Amino acid sequence: MQINDKEFEIFITAEQIDSRVKTLGKEINEAYQDKNPLFLSVLNGAFMFSSDLMKEVHIRSEISFVKFSSYESMESTGSVQKMIGLKENLSGRHLVVIEDIVDTGNTMAYFLKLLAKEKPASVEIATLLFKPQALKHPLQLKYVGFEIPPKFVVGYGLDYDGYGRNLKDIYQLKLN
Ligand code: 5GP
Ligand code: MG
Ligand code: MG
Repeated sequence: MQINDKEFEIFITAEQIDSRVKTLGKEINEAYQDKNPLFLSVLNGAFMFSSDLMKEVHIRSEISFVKFSSYESMESTGSVQKMIGLKENLSGRHLVVIEDIVDTGNTMAYFLKLLAKEKPASVEIATLLFKPQALKHPLQLKYVGFEIPPKFVVGYGLDYDGYGRNLKDIYQLKLN
């Protein structure tokens, strides 16, 4: 699969994602049954995962969308920009952050710090993908779809320079 100047190969299929997302949904339903959680989906990357995950969540809950950007092309710049989109009162709420991927953890560490200021009842992270070898922060990731090696991936919401978010499977960069 060619995206712009790079060649990618299939890595995680839509079927594998679907099955894993259903399991995560069940776990969330059990853990948050009476907690009226507020899901915070991090755009753009988590849009597809959030959508599929929420279809498996059958408990009383809300979802809201936030956005920041730090990632230029294939390398994390390390600096996270301003967050936009959050209007809800988070005080006393049980929050579940929905992310596409945790790489260095810079984005999540920064976001968790912002959220803590609002005095939520609890905060957990649900990330589709996790690259443990790239992690630079002591993050607790309660819901992880797949642990993956530190290779660049695209598809199912994740982009390469804006392209590939629409792919239903996840691809990884092909190293020739
Ligand atoms: P972190 O702050 O954990 O280093 O990563 C922040 C963001 O970088 C992720 O939410 C994601 O949008 C992007 N990112 C990290 N690794 C990858 C990757 O392998 N592929 C793509 N497309 N984006 C990535
Ligand atoms: Mg993201
Ligand atoms: Mg990106």
